Amino acid sequence: MPDGYPTAARAPGDATAGARASVVIDLGRIRSAAETIRAATGREIWAVVKADAYGLGAAAVAAALAEVVDGFCVFSLAEAARARLAARTRRPVLALGPPRSLDPDRYRRHGVRPAVSTRSEARALRRAAPVLSVDTGMGRFACPPEEVEAVLAAGAIEEAFTHALELAQVELLTAAVNGRVERRHAASTRLLGEPAAWLDAVRPGLALFRDAVTVRAPLVEVRRCRGRTGYTGFTCDHYGVILLGYAHGLRPGPCRVDGRRRRILEVGMQSACVEVGSTTRAGHWVELLSPELPPEEVAAAWGATPHEVLARLARSGPRRYVGG
Ligand SMILES: *Cc1c(COP(=O)(O)O)cnc(C)c1O
Repeated sequence: MPDGYPTAARAPGDATAGARASVVIDLGRIRSAAETIRAATGREIWAVVKADAYGLGAAAVAAALAEVVDGFCVFSLAEAARARLAARTRRPVLALGPPRSLDPDRYRRHGVRPAVSTRSEARALRRAAPVLSVDTGMGRFACPPEEVEAVLAAGAIEEAFTHALELAQVELLTAAVNGRVERRHAASTRLLGEPAAWLDAVRPGLALFRDAVTVRAPLVEVRRCRGRTGYTGFTCDHYGVILLGYAHGLRPGPCRVDGRRRRILEVGMQSACVEVGSTTRAGHWVELLSPELPPEEVAAAWGATPHEVLARLARSGPRRYVGG
């Protein structure tokens, strides 16, 4: 068990006792994930901390990563400004989303380079050293391959990227820029296993965070099941109640209780019923996400992506950082 976790099964005594859930983020694991990616790829790492680092807290995550990555990616200038990313980390920052401001000085002031996809954006933001976003299939805020040459020229652009899920898209990027830029990048978590996708830098988000978050909720009641129960009429031997519901992003799916894999049987607005064993008591933890129950497994049960699972569950309670 990582440092800083309460070792007893019971929740009281933990700093977050009384909260409906505890979100523990292991910054050491995030750092070592970055080091592992660096060792595997030998490329620059641009850590993606958009959407408040998928709910983990962009400021704390970026501070922990500053020494081991080359730069940071956010979605918008506003996100970078809010987390004071460039000042805090002394690393360059790239805003991946469509530019909401066309004032280059606003980007420069916050140490952010904008991604651009049209000639007018490129021209307006030329002094902010824009990066070209090339559309290789995502079909949103990116430049169609046939317009790449004109947009590069309009912004005096020397760097281009694409949001790619497959190697064929990486090849499309390379063909579209046709040797006209100094730097290219494409690989998010999906393509980290593909050396041909690494180009000049990799841009992982999920791969940095997936093993670093533990979300747990204390059982407030444990009961023997007396036949059909709850909204859905579930049946089991024993169940317990946690005070997280779909209002907090929870859905039915897997969980762990007292070290065993269990199921969240039913989710209400602000509470959920969880299958437990006969020795489980009120106060024991229900683990909703952890290195032993990674976002991919929860996502499969939810019919969602691991990104969505992280973004929901990491926001379900007060955050506590360990390994910083
Ligand atoms: C979100 C995002 C990433 C990171 O994706 P992960 O799957 O979390 O690694 C990389 N590049 C772009 C353009 C993105 O929008």
